[in-house]
Amino acid sequence: MKDIKQDTRLVHADRILNKPEDGAVHQSTNNSVLFAFDDVADLESVFQGKSAGHVYSRSSSSSAVALQNMLASLDGGIAATCFATGMSAISAAMFSLLKAGDHLIVSNFLFGNTRSFFDNLQNFGLQVDYVDTTDAKNIAEKVRNNTKIVFCETIANPGTQIADLRGIGTICSDNNILFIVDNTMTPSVMFDAKSVGVNLLTTSLTKYVAGHGNVLGGAVIDLGNFDWSTYANIDEFYKSAPVALWGTTQIRKKGLRDIGATLAPQSAHLASIGLETLSMRMQKTCENALILAKYLESHDAINKVNYPGLSSHPQHKKVSELFNIEANNGQQVLFGGILSIELAINYDVRRVLNALNLVLSATHLGDTRTLALPVATTIFYENGLEKRHQMGISENLIRLSVGLEHPQDLINDFKQALSQ
Ligand SMILES: *Cc1c(COP(=O)(O)O)cnc(C)c1O
Repeated sequence: MKDIKQDTRLVHADRILNKPEDGAVHQSTNNSVLFAFDDVADLESVFQGKSAGHVYSRSSSSSAVALQNMLASLDGGIAATCFATGMSAISAAMFSLLKAGDHLIVSNFLFGNTRSFFDNLQNFGLQVDYVDTTDAKNIAEKVRNNTKIVFCETIANPGTQIADLRGIGTICSDNNILFIVDNTMTPSVMFDAKSVGVNLLTTSLTKYVAGHGNVLGGAVIDLGNFDWSTYANIDEFYKSAPVALWGTTQIRKKGLRDIGATLAPQSAHLASIGLETLSMRMQKTCENALILAKYLESHDAINKVNYPGLSSHPQHKKVSELFNIEANNGQQVLFGGILSIELAINYDVRRVLNALNLVLSATHLGDTRTLALPVATTIFYENGLEKRHQMGISENLIRLSVGLEHPQDLINDFKQALSQ
């Protein structure tokens, strides 16, 4: 697997890594909840983690393990753990790795439900500082003796702010802090997280990885570059595993097994099918988004376009070293598939969205179809007017998740909707 290019790895990973029976190209989907053993000594051995196998499908199944193998390999990590959703991947990682009294530094620019989760963590005796992660200096200022984790996203939604990933990685490694990044917006085919010092990835498989709006899933991936022997919160019991796997072992026990947000076998299969075409979909999505962003930026009805591919974007210059993909002729820089637009004052958000024919008014992102969402009245509704103002979310902001349509059809749809 090592010597072949990413596109090739994606389509052959299941066959090569998981070696399904009968020459099948997919790992079979086995729905058994329980696993019986001829010799009870073997049951005990699997239970105690001394030999490989499954005992109960809340903890592991061959379908979920097959997807874990593929994700770990494709992301350049040592182990992946799958969950029922992206939110359960994040929450299981935090609940299994943190203790009351620990301090976290978390991005100000977060997926709304993730922000709500971190707000709630403060009710359990954890200290959370929210900072502007576009400049690593802001993280350095907040580091304390009890800081355990720094958490941010790569490209934030809906504002498209880009975290100072390399700078934060350096601060974390200098201070021996675990650096966890949600890379949902920039899957590993376009972002080498290890190269900037990320230790753990959390990802929503629901979005680009599965890609077709038909399955929920999440994962935590250990990139193998954190020294778990220095992490205070590992239970003595899990230290029988090799040191590199202490974190994953604890996440699988206290996170997956005890919380129980397990990825169903059929869901693991569906996500793995999406994975096969991830690279080409990411490239097309990002190309379409750039074309649409440029068109909308030139339109009189639009006051502002937030998109990292535009030279007007504050972190535009950072993108080329962070997000790129193996293309036909070397590397191609990608700017992500999400953009947001502010309509001019005399345009009404509802009227514009209702006038679109192809573009769907829907929540969700990373779909094959282009989706549009009014931000203030939906995903940031709970925050209220004042907090939205502080977070730079204007009342007439629309978020777009760009799909795989022909870009001219998308332009035509916006052209007619904005002329009504
Ligand atoms: C959607 C999303 C999540 C949550 O994923 P689910 O699979 O919907 O639970 C987390 N982070 C980001 C950045 C997301 O876009």
